[in-house]
Amino acid sequence: MPGKGAWLSMKNELLTDRAFVERVFREAYEIGLSSASRGTVASYIPELKKADPKAFGMYMMTDDGYSLAFGDCLERFSIQSVCKVIILAESLKLFGFKETFSHVMMEPSGDSFNSILKLDLASSRPYNPMINAGAIELVSLLVNKVGYDELLDETRALCMDPAIDLDESVYHSEFETGDRNRAIAYLLKSKGVLMGDPEKTLDLYFRMCSLSVNAKSLAGLGLVIANNGVDPFTGERLIKEEDVRTLKIIMFTCGMYDYSGKFGMNAGVPGKSGVGGGIVCAARGPMGIGFYGPALDAFGNSSGGVKAMVHISEKLRLHVFDYN
Ligand code: GLU
Repeated sequence: MPGKGAWLSMKNELLTDRAFVERVFREAYEIGLSSASRGTVASYIPELKKADPKAFGMYMMTDDGYSLAFGDCLERFSIQSVCKVIILAESLKLFGFKETFSHVMMEPSGDSFNSILKLDLASSRPYNPMINAGAIELVSLLVNKVGYDELLDETRALCMDPAIDLDESVYHSEFETGDRNRAIAYLLKSKGVLMGDPEKTLDLYFRMCSLSVNAKSLAGLGLVIANNGVDPFTGERLIKEEDVRTLKIIMFTCGMYDYSGKFGMNAGVPGKSGVGGGIVCAARGPMGIGFYGPALDAFGNSSGGVKAMVHISEKLRLHVFDYN
C-alpha cells in the first residue's frame, strides 16, 4: 500500500504499450525541437550565452529500466535553478520540515525568481525555496553543516549520475556577475535571518547552480522523486517519503517560475526548470523525464521542454488530477 503522497508511484497502464509510449515521446520531441529555437538563451550569466539555441534533447526513464533518449540528451549544461530541489531535499533531511519552513514560506511569490522586492517590503522570510532568496536562505542553513563535496555526492546520487561535476567556467561567470544574489544574501543578513556567512553561502549557492548535468541526469532525479525517494536500481532510500511529498508540492506550485500555475494546469506534473535550459519532471509510472533546451520562453523555462512535456502529459494521462 503506497504511503502518504505516493501518487506518482501509481502504475500507469498506458505505459505498458511501449510502441504507443515511444510514438508519444517521438511526437513530443518533434514538437519540442520545432519550438526550441523560438526562445532566447539566457545571457545575464555570460557563460550561458554560449549555448546553442537550437539544441534540444530529452530523456525518459521508468523504474524497471525502460528508457528513451532523444536529440541532445547527453549534452552537458549547468543545472542552475534545478539545484533548488536538491537544496530543499538536503535541508529537509538535515533540519526537518518545521525548521526548514521556519526560514522560508511555501507560497508562490508572483515575482521573478531573483526579485528582492517582497523580501525587502513584505516578508523577511523568502516566499518559497524555489526562488533565489529562498534557496540562498536554505543554503545559509546548510553551509554550517555540509560542504560542497557532500552536496555534490548527494546530487550525483539523486540524479543517478556519478559524472556530475562543477563547470568551472559557469561557476566563475556566476561568481563575477552574481551581484543580485549578493544583494539578496546581504539583505537577508541585514534582516538578521541569514544563518551562515554570506560569502560562504553565496559560494556554495554558485557552485550548486554550476553543476554540469544532462537531460539524462535530470530524468534520474525525476525518477527518484517519482519513485518516492528510492533509487529503483539499487533499492536505496535517498529521500524520506514525507520529504518527497513536500518536494513534489513545492515543485508543482513554485517550480516553473511565473508559469507554475499554467504548467500545473497544462502539464500537471511536479517540475523544476533552470535558466541553463534544463527541466526535471516527476511523473506517474513512476517515470522521470529530463529536458534540455537552452532557448528560454518569456518566463525563463525551456520553450521546447515545456511544449514537449504538455504533449507527453496529455497523451499519457500524466496530470496528477486526472488519475483514476
Ligand atoms: N544561478 C542562477 C541565479 O542565481 C539560477 C537562476 C535560475 O536558474 O533560475 O541567478
